[in-house]
Amino acid sequence: MTTTPKGKVWFVGAGPGDPELITLKGQKLLAQAGAVLFAGSLVDRAATLYAPAGCVIRDSKDMTLEQMTDWLIEQAAAHGTVVRLQTGDPALYGALIEMARPLSAAGIEWAVVPGVSSAMASMAAAGESMTLPEVTQTVILTRVEGRTPMPPGEDLATLAAHRTTLCIFLSITLMYKVEAALRAAGWPEDAPMLVVHKASWPGEERIVRGTLADIKARCREAGIASQAMIVASPTLGALHWETLARSKLYDPAFTHRFRKASA
Ligand code: SAH
Repeated sequence: MTTTPKGKVWFVGAGPGDPELITLKGQKLLAQAGAVLFAGSLVDRAATLYAPAGCVIRDSKDMTLEQMTDWLIEQAAAHGTVVRLQTGDPALYGALIEMARPLSAAGIEWAVVPGVSSAMASMAAAGESMTLPEVTQTVILTRVEGRTPMPPGEDLATLAAHRTTLCIFLSITLMYKVEAALRAAGWPEDAPMLVVHKASWPGEERIVRGTLADIKARCREAGIASQAMIVASPTLGALHWETLARSKLYDPAFTHRFRKASA
């Protein structure tokens, strides 16, 4: 009796949109893939650029979760390498575990290749830092409640009370909720905010800067209504501050494992 050979399913982070921001490992897996299931328009370029001729490529935008996992299981019976290509990093708002459970149940091996999240790409686009010494050393990746409810204790006002960097996904159409939460947490009207649309997309990226008071109007003027990252952070605009605390690691007066302080 012969058993059906089973391939492995790779959940690959495609990065934020620029096909050059996929990892080398992700690109190599695509190049050897027999089948690729990609998540909508944000990552089709990477799939079509790197997958070999003859590879079965399918867009998942009109599929249910069951249809996707059935498809992956079917393809894994036919090919050694099957790729599920996802935007940014697969572990963020990517239904990773929901898709992996049926694979595990079917005895199919799977693994994850991380990707550059749109949160990172948005800060990169704007030339901003998520952390700054003595300003904030913490980043919160979150969203506001839409049709997906927020678990208790995670409403944005509660999180914003920490005054850390907030990267807010999936919320551009709910900007009024973001603003209300920041106000409830006591953020001032002139708190700097940043919205990046299609971060890293060649020719399509747009950066909107503003404050709590005007960011919504600025986004409306710019016509940004989808695929955008909202950032609220006390670090924004630090390039132009008059004073800035130094990073200890590079401070001449600070001794560490690899360098002695200069007199
Ligand atoms: N796993 C993805 C997030 C998927 S949820 C990641 O790690 O980035 C989809 C949300 O991500 C969008 O609503 C938007 O807020 C954000 N997003 C994805 N790609 C983006 C991009 N190129 N620029 C700005 N925001 C993006």
